[in-house]
Amino acid sequence: YVADCTEEMQFDIERSGITLTYHTDIEEPLIVIADRENLKRVMTNIVENAVKYMKRENGTIDVYITANQEMVTIKVQDNGQGISGDRLPFIFDIFYRADVSRNSATGGSGLGLAIAKRIIEEHGGRIWAESIEGKGTNILFTLKRVQVEKRGEENGENPHY
Ligand code: ATP
Ligand code: MG
Repeated sequence: YVADCTEEMQFDIERSGITLTYHTDIEEPLIVIADRENLKRVMTNIVENAVKYMKRENGTIDVYITANQEMVTIKVQDNGQGISGDRLPFIFDIFYRADVSRNSATGGSGLGLAIAKRIIEEHGGRIWAESIEGKGTNILFTLKRVQVEKRGEENGENPHY
C-alpha cells in the first residue's frame, strides 16, 4: 500500500527526471492499523518535498521499508539539496520553511511536515529527519505493527495469515 500512495505522483516525479525506487526484504504481510487517506497524505507530503527540494540532476528517491516485531519503519531517502544542521530541528514545526530565500521560487506554506507529524503521532508512531546539507535528506517514520496469529501450526496444517 505504501507503494500505491505515490502512484498518482509518478507523472510529476518522472517529469522532474527523478527515479523513485522501493526497497524491502520482508516477505510476510506487514499489517498496520492506519487511516488510509492520512497515511497517503504523509507519504505524498514527504515525497513532494523530496521532489520540490531536489534541485539537481539525476535525482533519486529511495523508499526503504523495514520492520521488527513491534513496528514498521519507512525511510524516504533523497539525494537533494539537504537541510543545514541549524534548521533541521525545526522542519516539523508549523509554518517553518528552511532557507526561504533559496526556496521562495518553489513556494509552499511550511505545513506539509507538520501535518505528517501530527498524523504519525496520532497513530502512535514517531517521525524524524536526518540530513546532510548538499547531500540529501532522510525522512523516517514508524507505525505500530500488528502481529497476526499464525493458525494451524500446532495441528500440522499449513499456517496461514
Ligand atoms: P508545504 O509542504 O506546506 O507546501 P513546505 O514544503 O515548505 O510547504 P514542509 O513540507 O513542512 O513545508 O517542509 C518544511 C521545510 O523543510 C521546507 O520548506 C524545506 O525547507 C525543508 N525540507 C523538507 N523536506 C526537504 C527535503 N526533502 N530536502 C530539503 N529540504 C526539505
Ligand atoms: Mg512540503
